[in-house]
Amino acid sequence: MMLDYNSLLIALGVSATCLAFTLMGSWFARRPETFLLTCTGGLFLVVAGIFTYSFYVATPVPFVGGMTFVMFMIGFSVIWAAGYQFRKGHLSRWRILLGSFTGMFATLPAMASGYDGLAFMGDNIVIAALLFATAREYWLSRHEAPAPLYGISALYALTAITFVLCASVLISDGKLVLGHAPDNWAEDVSLAVCIAGMTGIGALSLALHQWRQAALHRVEANTDPLTGLLNRRALFDLYGQRAFTSSMAVVVFDIDRFKAVNDHYGHATGDAILKFFADELSRNLRASDVVARMGGEEFALVLEEILPGRAEQVAERVRSGFAAREMVVDGKLLKCTVSAGIAIGSSDRLAFDNVLNSADKALYAAKRAGRNRVELADFLYSVPPEPSRIVS
Ligand code: GH3
Ligand code: MG
Ligand code: MG
Repeated sequence: MMLDYNSLLIALGVSATCLAFTLMGSWFARRPETFLLTCTGGLFLVVAGIFTYSFYVATPVPFVGGMTFVMFMIGFSVIWAAGYQFRKGHLSRWRILLGSFTGMFATLPAMASGYDGLAFMGDNIVIAALLFATAREYWLSRHEAPAPLYGISALYALTAITFVLCASVLISDGKLVLGHAPDNWAEDVSLAVCIAGMTGIGALSLALHQWRQAALHRVEANTDPLTGLLNRRALFDLYGQRAFTSSMAVVVFDIDRFKAVNDHYGHATGDAILKFFADELSRNLRASDVVARMGGEEFALVLEEILPGRAEQVAERVRSGFAAREMVVDGKLLKCTVSAGIAIGSSDRLAFDNVLNSADKALYAAKRAGRNRVELADFLYSVPPEPSRIVS
């Protein structure tokens, strides 16, 4: 062999340390992802276990072997718990305790009573089980970021298989007392796979981290931070290229005399009212309806597959619901109204821009007519002479 067993162990320790620091760095970049911190903690315990084990390889005294088992069992249980935390969002102390105690129970008594061979069988079996359980957590989360999660799951499973291999070789040799660290081909294979697996998991964890960040940025770019509704950009992404037929409609809402609310009660109260209105909108939606905050105190609602009269009905419900709503902001009771303009698509397959424009004109008419009312766009009046149509 070019490298002796102990050098390989040190190499594994170093690569596990690198992985631990990588995960810790990712956690610094994004604190809410606490599973990264949990995983870092687990890895540092495993690293401590690896170095203790390398000491045991040189000097096989039971106490050192026992220490190795304790660190491995807690470490791998924490790594499993980190996988669960990744999937569920909260830490499971129960898993850490279950894994740690099962692992110690399967190894320490045997080691203490001189059956080190038996202890190492237990050690390999429990670590394999913990690694399989970890692989399962990432597997169950795979829909979030398929490529990195399939990879991470596969690498944990592969590593687990090598521990099964080690256990099998020990069991088939049948020696309950070894007097030294296990030393067979399966151990060498396991060590090599662990080094490769550790490196791979490190790289994939970074990819996973990027994936989550990108998904988060996508959501942020399409969301209005105040109300949590879609923003104008998102609505145009959804409907900018769609042809509006007569079974589709756009309703635009604009809160009445909102400037006066801001002037009287302050901007923060204005913001609170915007949230109340967003809530009023959301209450009146079906699953297929899409609502967005277009900016300021203007909102737009897109309805699809509607029967005649439905857009008017929804707009009226939102208007009357909001007008009747008694909003308490900072101990003050406020009431507010909203005006709405509706435009229905046509068999001419209008572009979103055009329908939105018509709805805006209807809204303007509602404002002129005294506010707190809904107006339907007068089709002949509101469509420009040469509307741009979507031909497809
Ligand atoms: P009208 O009935 O004609 O719609 O009168 P209005 O006062 O609502 O109309 P206008 O469009 O002139 O005023 C809109 C005001 O909305 C102006 C601005 O101060 C306020 N505004 C815009 N965005 C926000 C926001 O994010 N938060 C708060 N609090 N106010 C906003
Ligand atoms: Mg307004
Ligand atoms: Mg306005």
